Amino acid sequence: MNNAAYYLRYIVDNIHRTIVATVDNNGLPVTCAIDMMDTDEDSLYFLTAKGKNFYDRLIKRKFLAFTAMKGEDTMTSTAVSVRGKVRELGFDRIPELFNKNPYMNEIYQTQKSRHALTVFQIYEGSGEWFDLSKKPIERMSFTFGKFESCKAESGYYINDNCIGCKSCLEVCPQDCINLTQPPAVINSQNCLHCGNCFSICPVKAIIKL
Ligand code: SF4
Ligand code: SF4
Repeated sequence: MNNAAYYLRYIVDNIHRTIVATVDNNGLPVTCAIDMMDTDEDSLYFLTAKGKNFYDRLIKRKFLAFTAMKGEDTMTSTAVSVRGKVRELGFDRIPELFNKNPYMNEIYQTQKSRHALTVFQIYEGSGEWFDLSKKPIERMSFTFGKFESCKAESGYYINDNCIGCKSCLEVCPQDCINLTQPPAVINSQNCLHCGNCFSICPVKAIIKL
């Protein structure tokens, strides 16, 4: 299983409930709670009812973002954030999602009532895994599907202009900058994206993506 497949499976099996953001007709963000009910390890599946404003926003924008968290408190939490494109698949997959998520039978108890429902697939996107329970923290980026159109690189890296002054090492809260010889190197999987190194570098050798 590749990294993206692991993170998507983790969302479905270990977190499940996510807070999804979409954009309304006025261009303003709206959030709602949505269960991620299945994955084929290259996309995510969820359902909604066609009568909801959420459905209208999905159909119009065909894009969403969400964050899902698991943990007792901040310092034990794992968070996964995803943004990606969605497409409507319709009713055919509803029985399968009900089988895999049997609590749905309590919400939509009759077959007739389920005809309000439709399945959406998040078929390509990018995401970020953030684990504050690890020391140092763990951050990983991932993409899935044909991700090029919505890939979102972020973070910091150090170029060859570095003169090895060590100023960035002194302000890094995660000790995630290594310097044996210039240029220094940032361990991106442990970086908080705080920007301290970027601000202090005297020769502007640190680039923000
Ligand atoms: S952005 Fe912050 S955490 Fe990341 S390398 Fe720079 S100082 Fe360290
Ligand atoms: S502050 Fe800039 S020049 Fe100094 S070690 Fe860090 S990256 Fe290199």
